[in-house]
Amino acid sequence: ATQRRPLMAGNWKMNLNHLEAIALVQKLAFSLNEDQLTAVETVVLPPFVDLRSVQTLVDGDKLLIRYGAQDLSPYQSGAYTGDISGAMLAKLGCSYVTVGHSERRAYHHEDDALVNAKVGAALANGLTPILCVGEGLEVREELRHVPHCCDQLDAALAGLTAEQVTKVVVAYEPVWAIGTGKTATPEDAQEVCGAVRRRLAERFDPTTADQVRILYGGSVKSSNVAAIMAQPDVDGALVGGASLDADEFSQICRFP
Ligand code: PEP
Repeated sequence: ATQRRPLMAGNWKMNLNHLEAIALVQKLAFSLNEDQLTAVETVVLPPFVDLRSVQTLVDGDKLLIRYGAQDLSPYQSGAYTGDISGAMLAKLGCSYVTVGHSERRAYHHEDDALVNAKVGAALANGLTPILCVGEGLEVREELRHVPHCCDQLDAALAGLTAEQVTKVVVAYEPVWAIGTGKTATPEDAQEVCGAVRRRLAERFDPTTADQVRILYGGSVKSSNVAAIMAQPDVDGALVGGASLDADEFSQICRFP
């Protein structure tokens, strides 16, 4: 099996201005040495307006920390007031962009077709999309979480080649576990992450499925990350609240 490099991504959401962003990235850089940053890919996902400051710091000090955005437009440029394109993000040195986060799906009514277009826009600009899938509480209680997540996955990856899919990161984020303090058990995380990988093997091929990194997200903390990371199909975490604290997030990145 492929050795997949663990990935810890901090989704800052709508928190921290650019000065606070600089302070947090500096603290992270102090807390994680080169070996740790090589072993575990460490990514921050600040608000758009912080990206230039983060870029200046990362480039100036040649930090191994990577960064990206929380959303992008499906279009390259044009009359889309308030939107930000993948080309703009790539120009700022972004490596990643989250697509289809449950908060975007809920508050901005992003549907599967739009998520699919955004995945395409990310790839077209050399960005790695972190594609979020996950079920709400109702779907979980009806035990439809696996087909629900696989349907979201299928829709988001429609039209992509296997080669493109190897460049996608999938994040399984059960909506009922986001920002609630309720973490899925490691077995719950494995159940869906394993199902996602099997689905990728069916739709594309086993070699492709083996290469794709699959993250778990939902109230990940330093105290629960090791058990989640011990699951065979979990390759990292998408971390919200706990990524705003440099000590806590660096501990998460040192999980092994
Ligand atoms: C998220 O927003 O992607 C997330 C997982 O948030 P939290 O860790 O705060 O639950």
